Amino acid sequence: MSMVQNPFYYKTRTLYCENMPVRTLVKKYGTPLYIYSRQAFLQRYAEVAGGLKEFNPLICFSVKSNANIAILKMLGRAGAGADIVSGGELFRCLKAGIPPSRIVYAGVGKTTAEIRFALKSGIRLFNVESLPELHAINAVARGMGTIARIGFRLNPDVDAKTHALTTTGKKENKFGLPIAHALDYYREAGRLAHVRAVGIDMHLGSPIFSLQPYTTALRKLLAVLDTLATHNITLEELDIGGGLGITYANEKPFTVAAFARAIRPFVRRSGLRLIVEPGRYICGNSGILATSVTYVKKTPVKNFIITDSGMNDLIRPPLYGSYHRIEPVQKRGQRTMTADIVGPICESSDFMGKDRKIEEPGAGDCLAVMSAGAYGFSMSSNYNSRPRACEVLVSVNNASVIRRRETYDDLVRAEVR
Ligand SMILES: *Cc1c(COP(=O)(O)O)cnc(C)c1O
Repeated sequence: MSMVQNPFYYKTRTLYCENMPVRTLVKKYGTPLYIYSRQAFLQRYAEVAGGLKEFNPLICFSVKSNANIAILKMLGRAGAGADIVSGGELFRCLKAGIPPSRIVYAGVGKTTAEIRFALKSGIRLFNVESLPELHAINAVARGMGTIARIGFRLNPDVDAKTHALTTTGKKENKFGLPIAHALDYYREAGRLAHVRAVGIDMHLGSPIFSLQPYTTALRKLLAVLDTLATHNITLEELDIGGGLGITYANEKPFTVAAFARAIRPFVRRSGLRLIVEPGRYICGNSGILATSVTYVKKTPVKNFIITDSGMNDLIRPPLYGSYHRIEPVQKRGQRTMTADIVGPICESSDFMGKDRKIEEPGAGDCLAVMSAGAYGFSMSSNYNSRPRACEVLVSVNNASVIRRRETYDDLVRAEVR
């Protein structure tokens, strides 16, 4: 199949994923159903790899955005490494065959057990977010008779102009270490025998739609590198995190080419190996959530379209007020209605869309929640004792189940009677 611009598209009135009608997938696998396009993932990954080629970067896919092993395996084969934030994510990456030499580990609360697991696995880099963590890594490495490669995640105090709950690079955020004291951290690392400081790191938040936060923060990181150089401290890796925005409604994200242009002077001057950690950019528009309409409920003040997927399946709208386009899987040319599109969960925040103008569906009709490939299934839960959705990966006119639908037995599997 030739590369299509958008792997999710309408042919006449039917929504397709690659060459498969979504309604065929729904009929076969039921709803709620996460549907991913293999081509979309690989195309977006190739876009990042191609656009940043001049830097010979290590592209560490942010596992928390979509952690399915089949997805990790596919991206790993394409050359990706991984950005992880837990021992569980490391476990997944190893299962998926991602070489540990391509794995970088961030997060403010790494436990000693997780640090030990990561050292034993031989990951490339710990991005350290506090001095107690630095000492914990040193102690674990000493106990294992090894030396941990570390970088410091610095908080550049830059406003990424994204949602208050998804910005991470301002000084009041819990992430990273205050950039003003960077020299002290590297000196402290220099005093410890079982860590070797090789990296400098930032991650500003997500999604970011302007290049300016990156350039402002990079200017600050370069100033730190200059200071380190005057103290004969030299590094190897420059990790600039992820956060690249995508189109949910009609946002106009910057291109990878523009991103490359913006970071070029800084990366060149640093002389360091570039690491980037895109998550959403690679998977956000590579998946949708298909859901069935259970009821259409009309009240004097509002209409509700009640679906069989809820905030346990996709929590982004309640959590961040995120917008996802919602479209009929099969357009019928019915008149439109304005309705809140909500789930069955017993919470008022259980919604996927508010005041949406949409073709009036009937019970049993299917809707597609678009741009659900990132922070969709990976944030899902069993709240209200709802088995988690099935995930399928489509390749041209083939679909494979990459996570079966959970059963009621799965819900109680770990519990003790
Ligand atoms: C979440 C996260 C990312 C990925 O962010 P995206 O917006 O999905 O690109 C990268 N790095 C770190 C440290 C993160 O926590």
